[in-house]
Amino acid sequence: MNNETLGEATRDLTITALEIFLVRWPLKMKRRHGVGDIERTMPGVIVKMTTDAGLIGWGEASPWAVFTGIAESCVAAIDVYFRPLLIGADPTDITALMNAIERAVVAHTEAKAAIEMALLDILGKRLKAPIALLLGGFVRREVEMSVSIANPDFDEDMEFAKRLAGEGVRLFKVKTGFLSHGEDLLRMERLRAELPGDAELRIDYNQGLEAWDALQKVRDMEIFHPRFIEQPVPRDQRAALAAITAAIDTPIMADESVFSPAEAIEMVRTQLCDCVSIKIMKAGGIRRAREIAAIAEAAGIAGYGGTMFEGGLAIAAGLHFVAATPNVSLGAEFYTSTYVMGVEILATPIVIRNGRNIVPTGPGLGVEIDEQAVRSIAIDIRR
Ligand code: MG
Repeated sequence: MNNETLGEATRDLTITALEIFLVRWPLKMKRRHGVGDIERTMPGVIVKMTTDAGLIGWGEASPWAVFTGIAESCVAAIDVYFRPLLIGADPTDITALMNAIERAVVAHTEAKAAIEMALLDILGKRLKAPIALLLGGFVRREVEMSVSIANPDFDEDMEFAKRLAGEGVRLFKVKTGFLSHGEDLLRMERLRAELPGDAELRIDYNQGLEAWDALQKVRDMEIFHPRFIEQPVPRDQRAALAAITAAIDTPIMADESVFSPAEAIEMVRTQLCDCVSIKIMKAGGIRRAREIAAIAEAAGIAGYGGTMFEGGLAIAAGLHFVAATPNVSLGAEFYTSTYVMGVEILATPIVIRNGRNIVPTGPGLGVEIDEQAVRSIAIDIRR
């Protein structure tokens, strides 16, 4: 594409409408975490951005009240504060629009991620290029998938893990810290014994330990040779997290303690962790997630592709992020849209082959939305 046609392709595009769907995802299984439990449903937000050229961009926010934010508040941020900045604007002015949105509202990172996702989807469709290409190209076209063991019914979870192991999955992240320490040790023991010998176990406490005796409990876990142990202590207990990182050989991963690029700089400065879970829902979009990955890379801290409770749209966006970002080298947990959400909103679901997610290669996010499916789980729609 020469400069003239590129200019042509991005000229005179205007956002004409923004529809916001507050949805309630039905879930196929219960989930428990150190930070909170989820029983049958999970709120979510989906946006449909329309342009005068007929191009439509889609975005998804995955708020969780105990982690990133509240779904109703996410809808209000987009509807009341972002909408006036977007309607009538050129959707290809992504940096300028996202800067305006950053200035307009603090936090609400999932809302910002959803809007950036829709803008990138439109730009990709306009240029007939997948988002990973817009980010500098693919460094990987498949991403090794990590599946979380988080069901309070552990027998059900063992069956789930063994079934997935049979399908080629090798990365399992065990959610700990919502049961007693003794029960967590027994779960690890069974997983180590019953999963294939080449299965890699990881541990995620989701802030579930108290700082004063966390080190002892984390040390007990080392006999199972976890690849890493994630966020053992509460988000704000950073000194304790840094002390655990310094004290043990198993790599320690930060998740809830690192949302933003500024927090990533603190992570480096304080030697907080050995690796970091990077999520577009925490960072406020793909571009800021890549800033965190770059800061981590410069410090020798490995990245992991984390998620919230995400449907296929957010998973597709995450895949483009990981596909184009070398330092996200520890795999990614892009399993929820396939195994946890009870409704598929993609016309063609994300492809998983031999335990790996295949990155979509079509224009934009590279996925087609089943709008009827979105409407079937919507509980409020703002136009
Ligand atoms: Mg985590």
